[in-house]
Amino acid sequence: MSLLVVGSLAIDTIETPFGKVENVLGGSATYISIAAGYFVTPVRLVGVVGGDFSKEYIKMLEERDIDLEGLQIIKDGKTFRWGGRYHYDLNVRDTLYTDLNVFEFFNPVIPDSYKKTTYVCLGNIDPVLQSRVLQQIEKPRLVVGDTMNFWIKRKKDDLLKTLKSIDVLIINESEARELTNEPNLIRAGKEIIKMGPRVIVIKKGEHGALLITASTIFSAPAYPLENIYDPTGAGDSFAGGFIGWIAKTDDTSDENLKRAVIYGSALASFCVERFSLDRLKELDCLEITERFREFKAISDFNEGTVQ
Ligand code: AMP
Repeated sequence: MSLLVVGSLAIDTIETPFGKVENVLGGSATYISIAAGYFVTPVRLVGVVGGDFSKEYIKMLEERDIDLEGLQIIKDGKTFRWGGRYHYDLNVRDTLYTDLNVFEFFNPVIPDSYKKTTYVCLGNIDPVLQSRVLQQIEKPRLVVGDTMNFWIKRKKDDLLKTLKSIDVLIINESEARELTNEPNLIRAGKEIIKMGPRVIVIKKGEHGALLITASTIFSAPAYPLENIYDPTGAGDSFAGGFIGWIAKTDDTSDENLKRAVIYGSALASFCVERFSLDRLKELDCLEITERFREFKAISDFNEGTVQ
């Protein structure tokens, strides 16, 4: 099975109550492809960077069998840059700046060798670009999409058009409320189903995730971590683990979607243990499987004898 990931590659500056890192590797496509790469390789990547994007990062991505034929390098341009600051409640973050730079004029061109990709993951980028990508892919089996408040505020009409071509929308709880003007998450999920996607995954940070389809509601726990250093990329790592598992198993049944939510949650729980991609990029498959099993254990209970 093949997997295509489109999204941002970024240089991030991040402040959390536990420290600050400046000019580190980030971006939605970076996190998604590294997370998904634990399940399928090669991951085909489409994105854009400037001449300031370190060769070390390119080398690291290539060594992980991430196919960079679809990566545009604009030599005289600057890479997308994002700065964020987290509060003590790590579910709350302020965006300090979003410098689109080379993204402002990005025109995603899908190489011929990618056009028959079976699974597509549209990371968080301008919804107009997400649609342009989909127009170039021949009948993908499943399209997973992510977005964020930045685009809901600025490009809602374009986002609503893109949603018609997305099968699974992965979104966080405040964004689900913002998109639908509906405070209740179950009702918000059902409203989003009317907008196009048949599956909605609502991420609730340290409170887990909800999977909503026309016939299923599944509530996944969050992994009870005591030390969370940097939540950046948790949502993207979730998306990568989710689509990686689906692509590996080639199974989009409701039961397998639930497993994919747990793999997504597992990858996200690793991501937040250190800053930037430091933890996510050093995993092995055994620890991912172990954490998947721990997710089952923390929510399993004996129903006892019903009187
Ligand atoms: P997450 O924490 O999963 O929402 O993803 C954080 C990553 O998304 C960071 O590495 C940022 O570089 C990237 N990012 C932040 N804002 C945007 C945006 N408006 N468009 C694309 N990528 C973004």
